[in-house]
Amino acid sequence: MAMSETQLKNALDTLKTTGVRITPQRHAILEYLIETMTHPTADDIYKALESKFPNMSVATVYNNLRVFREAGLVKELTYGDNASRFDFITSKHYHVICSSCGKIVDFHYPGLDEVEHVAAQVTNFEINSHRMEIYGTCPECQAKSEEVKTAL
Ligand SMILES: [Zn+2]
Ligand SMILES: [Zn+2]
Repeated sequence: MAMSETQLKNALDTLKTTGVRITPQRHAILEYLIETMTHPTADDIYKALESKFPNMSVATVYNNLRVFREAGLVKELTYGDNASRFDFITSKHYHVICSSCGKIVDFHYPGLDEVEHVAAQVTNFEINSHRMEIYGTCPECQAKSEEVKTAL
């Protein structure tokens, strides 16, 4: 709890220094992103907060997320046709993704910086970042498929 409060405070400080006005909606969206850790879509955030902000639209949520992204606070993760998911940037981490339900879970692992160095050397690209994702079946989906098997 104290950890997420510090994260929220730091995020608000970052917004202040970049000259972004902190509205109650922005405050609530940031707080939600820090607390959920589920990599929500703009739609998920909208649904979670619409009772608090009846005048808010999904487009407003999306615009605020773009402001946060430009301030370097959140990362937008795109997956083909699916809606973008948003990740509050804490430290470098990788993602494990459930192939059945699409859930994304963070895990920490030392950054694979050598990959970037090798890529730069081999291709002469100027490398900015890399993305690595691990796929599998989450515990909940494993339990579900076990239930199906025992029912048969
Ligand atoms: Zn799953
Ligand atoms: Zn993440």
